[in-house]
Amino acid sequence: MKYKRILLKLSGEALMGDKNYGIDPVRLQQYTEEIKKVRDMGVEVAIVIGGGNIFRGVQAESSGMDRVQGDYMGMLATLINAMALQSALEQGGMYTRLMSGIKIESVCEPFIRRRAIRHLEKGRIVIFGAGIGNPYFTTDSTASLRAIEVEADIVLKGTRVDGVYTADPEKDPTATKYRTISFQEVYEKNLNVMDMTAFTLCQENNLPIIVFDMNVEGNLKKLVEGEEIGTLITSL
Ligand code: UDP
Repeated sequence: MKYKRILLKLSGEALMGDKNYGIDPVRLQQYTEEIKKVRDMGVEVAIVIGGGNIFRGVQAESSGMDRVQGDYMGMLATLINAMALQSALEQGGMYTRLMSGIKIESVCEPFIRRRAIRHLEKGRIVIFGAGIGNPYFTTDSTASLRAIEVEADIVLKGTRVDGVYTADPEKDPTATKYRTISFQEVYEKNLNVMDMTAFTLCQENNLPIIVFDMNVEGNLKKLVEGEEIGTLITSL
C-alpha cells in the first residue's frame, strides 16, 4: 500500500445523500464499506467529518445570529455526524474512538495528540469531532491540523467531484481536470481546494492532499494502493 496512515476528510453535506437535510443511512453504509476495505488492508485511518448538512456558522451569521455562537453550533453539528459515523463503523465490525475538540466527557474523549496516535497504532479508527474546538475555523482546517499532528501521510478529501479542475466543472463544460498540481499553482490560479487556512497549513508542512470522488465505489482503496485517482496536490 502507498499510504500507511491517512486522514480522510468527508463533508457533512455528502452524508445527506439524496436527502435535503440530515443523514442518509444508505450513504453512511456506503462510506462504512469503503472505509472497511482500507482498514482491512491494515491502513491506519483518521477521519474528520463536516457539519454542513446540519448547520454552518456563516449561515447563522447571515440570518443575524452571533457568528461565534453559530460556529459552536456548527462544531456540535460535526459531532452529531461523527457519532453517526462511529456507530456505523462499529456496526461494520471496526474499532473506533471519537475524539472531540470541545470537551463533552460523557460522549467522547477529548483530543489528546499522543492518545490519538496510540489509537491509530492499535488499529482503531479515530474520528475527530467538533472541529478544532475554536470558532472561525472549518473542518478542512481541522483535517489539515489533525493530519499534521498525528503525522498522517496524506489528507484524502472526499468530495462529489473527482478532482481539481481548471474551472468549476458543474458550470463550465470546457473545464479540465488536473492529475497533479503544486500548492503554488493552486494558489496562483485561485483554485478551490480547501479554505486558505487549511490549504496553507498543508503547504507549509509539506502534507500532500488528494481531492477525489468518495461516492465512486472502490476509489478510496485504489487511492491507498497508489492508483492515480482524483487530483494530487504536492509541493512538487
Ligand atoms: N466549525 C468551527 N470550527 C472548527 C470546525 C468547524 O467553527 O474548527 C464550524 C463552522 O461554523 C463550520 C461548521 O462548524 O461552518 C461546520 O463545518 P464545515 O462547514 O467545515 O462542514 P462541511 O462544509 O465540511 O460540511
